[in-house]
Amino acid sequence: MAQAKEPSFRQSVDLMFNRAVALMDLPPGLEEKIRVCNATYIVRFGVRLRGRIQTFVGYRSVHSEHMEPVKGGIRYAMGVNQDEVEALAALMTYKCALVEAPFGGSKGGLCMDPRQYDEHELEMITRRFAYELAKRDLIHPSQNVPAPDMGTSEREMAWIADQYSRMNTTDINARACVTGKPLHGGGIAGRVEATGRGVQYALREYFRHPEDVARSGLSGTLEGKRVIVQGLGNVGYHAAKFLSEEDGAKIIAIIERDGALVDEGGLDVEAVRHWLSTHGGVSGYPNAMHVPEGEKLLEHECDILIPAALEGVINLGNAERIKAPLIIEAANGPLTAGADEILRQKGAVIIPDMYANAGGVTVSYFEWVKNLSHIRFGRLQRRQEEARHQLLVDELERLSADSGIGWSLSPGFKQKYLRGADELELVRSGLDDTMRAAYQSMREVWHGREDVEDLRVAAYMVSIDRVAKSYQAKGL
Ligand code: GLU
Repeated sequence: MAQAKEPSFRQSVDLMFNRAVALMDLPPGLEEKIRVCNATYIVRFGVRLRGRIQTFVGYRSVHSEHMEPVKGGIRYAMGVNQDEVEALAALMTYKCALVEAPFGGSKGGLCMDPRQYDEHELEMITRRFAYELAKRDLIHPSQNVPAPDMGTSEREMAWIADQYSRMNTTDINARACVTGKPLHGGGIAGRVEATGRGVQYALREYFRHPEDVARSGLSGTLEGKRVIVQGLGNVGYHAAKFLSEEDGAKIIAIIERDGALVDEGGLDVEAVRHWLSTHGGVSGYPNAMHVPEGEKLLEHECDILIPAALEGVINLGNAERIKAPLIIEAANGPLTAGADEILRQKGAVIIPDMYANAGGVTVSYFEWVKNLSHIRFGRLQRRQEEARHQLLVDELERLSADSGIGWSLSPGFKQKYLRGADELELVRSGLDDTMRAAYQSMREVWHGREDVEDLRVAAYMVSIDRVAKSYQAKGL
């Protein structure tokens, strides 16, 4: 892991921020205002479990309130601490600004290992934590809206939503207090896959620009590209699945807690995920080579490296040996500032976290809007859209018959064209559009200015500029 001279995660984020503001012309003092974390609430609460009271330490950090509500996940992990939630909250501010999700940045966490507790225990812990946050408006539809992160999922979000509703029985917008809920508990289609889907859309957009692809020394399309994924959790799994099933990329290695699986011919992502969920690890998986020292695989030759687990996995200790020419940060902060510097000097292209993993919060935004409007996307338009398409098809068929030309529509066209979009299709379309637009805004800065060398600085500059404008509009 990280060496002694490595800065903390929050310092690492600040160093990257500083690199960007050095190229900007912000009014005096505003730079500092944007950089600092507004507040971090720390709570210690007890839950009676297994005959004794256990004390838990929880955090909710609010980085920037230039827009409200503030937004960001809640993480359950042993590594959770103040420095980490503050770094993650800052990244949320920049991420939301970059993809134009109208939120400030926040993040929360509980310092614990969720695998040590059964479902009922987790529910008691989650409800108690939600209570502590909600009573201070740190969970609130118009103030602070959490979402899943490492160690949490739609199950925890449903408990949080229910806890908030119990405490606010007359709030008609109670469901909008948290996103990433199950579909039948006020969620939205496509949220679970959203972050992985966003990684796929980000890579597709990158590969639409041969000039950008050339900067990493690669060429062509995603077809046949050799990909290594670190972490087969929700994000890594969906990214690997979509890239291999839909874009023809080859997943040549998957790195997990108990080692890595390697198959130069391409791993079957679905089969590995199934093995992982039934065996709790990848070792023993029969159809690939198992390497116990999984982290070593980060240094393996490949075209695209996707760190999709923890922060700081690529650091001063291994950056020099990383061979991937293109790294896409599906996790938050997987590269330390030092590693980022080394890899840039080696000529690698890094698609930064605040863009690469923004698919999650983008679809969270759609879910929040759905909750506030109390209606499923497409419910009003779908059949009307179908009826209009039907009119056109009928007219084409009539013209063809009347004119005697005898045109016939290609097979499948009618079926595909006639169908109005359902919620999932609309969510994917909105996500795709968001990822393309955000890439364009980074790209303009990346290519437009001589002094901007990389996508990360470009991303920070776009975000900081938007946050600054929003503060200025308020008269600050
Ligand atoms: N935890 C996710 C992230 O880091 C999602 C946040 C959200 O949807 O609010 O982006």
